[in-house]
Amino acid sequence: MPTTSQIILDPQALEENIGFLRKIMGKRTRLSSVVKANAYGHGIEHFVPMAEKAGIDHFSVFSADEAMRVYQAGSGKQEIMIMGWLDKHEMEWAIRNEISFYVFEPGRLMQAGSIAKKHRKPAHVHLEVETGMNRTGLAGGDLIKALRHIQNSSGLFRVNGLCTHFAGAESIANYYRITRQIMTFRKIQEKVLREGIKPRIRHTACSAAALNYPETRMDMVRIGIAQYGFWPSKETLIHYLHDKKKKTDPLKRVMSWKSRIMSIKKVRTGEFVSYGTTYLAQEDKRIAIIPVGYSNGYNRSLSNQGRVLIRGYRVAVIGMVNMNMLIADITAVPEAHIGDEVVMIGRQGDLEITVSSFSEISEQLNYELLARLPQNITRIVNN
Ligand SMILES: *Cc1c(COP(=O)(O)O)cnc(C)c1O
Repeated sequence: MPTTSQIILDPQALEENIGFLRKIMGKRTRLSSVVKANAYGHGIEHFVPMAEKAGIDHFSVFSADEAMRVYQAGSGKQEIMIMGWLDKHEMEWAIRNEISFYVFEPGRLMQAGSIAKKHRKPAHVHLEVETGMNRTGLAGGDLIKALRHIQNSSGLFRVNGLCTHFAGAESIANYYRITRQIMTFRKIQEKVLREGIKPRIRHTACSAAALNYPETRMDMVRIGIAQYGFWPSKETLIHYLHDKKKKTDPLKRVMSWKSRIMSIKKVRTGEFVSYGTTYLAQEDKRIAIIPVGYSNGYNRSLSNQGRVLIRGYRVAVIGMVNMNMLIADITAVPEAHIGDEVVMIGRQGDLEITVSSFSEISEQLNYELLARLPQNITRIVNN
């Protein structure tokens, strides 16, 4: 049964984004598609096959449950990498199915070693090292301990990667910090090599780092937001346009989000609309009720702020956004009817509601808005 709104995915846009990213990253750098948070709201089950068709063969997720969904949605040829959470039981599954995972605690490495031994199958690990973000990552004595453990357990580990994550590569304000992280990573890499451990690949870059700092691309980049057609920040887009002397945004939005008008009515001058008294009709109004509210991912902070597209017009969201409904002012659109398409995100005619405009008013990052789109909304892949 379709839900009250639908998220529509455009495979052509994804293909173009992947093509653009491949060109920027160069032939020697592999592209890993980051599909945590339900593929940034796009829906893992729908997104993964689309990405595979666009040539992606490596997926990164945060947790084992996401890895399982990618595993099931994928063709079986793809590689999967878990960057965050997995419990002991899930680690067994990962090792048996050659799913690789980050190691950022010596304890996790020991645990992986004993499971590998039990199943006589090496654990595919990525050593995540601390370079200055101060989140997860091996540092100091813990790193030494991990390296020693690998040296002393031949055959139990396949060190797939050496990796780290940058603390805000999308903003020039962090330039100094990121540059230091890159230097620290290089030093650690030398140390690891000196210990006789040779990770198959090195990977450090998310979208912003990959776009802003070419030296971070190395053997693989972990691309989330950009493949979906969004820039990690406006600054990154401007940097790209300036650097490449381009005038137009090369990324295409993969997602649009639509619903329909459920009910229409007239409201007289002096009446309030929706809960409370936040919206007073200053003239006779015609309003449309749309079956999308904050439980469907339409943020309540867009009350009296949001815009939607109806019949090719940009119209205002008036009054409070409810749990399951919002109200739009269609006074200027007399041709609007019940059942008409309503665009919350995406294009209609010549107009577009972008996630960034949307998130500017709701003070959500585009990341947050996408990641919070409910999992149960119907996803449709266009063809
Ligand atoms: C989310 C994430 C990425 C991808 O970040 P984008 O900014 O969306 O490209 C890369 N690496 C790690 C470790 C992440 O958690």
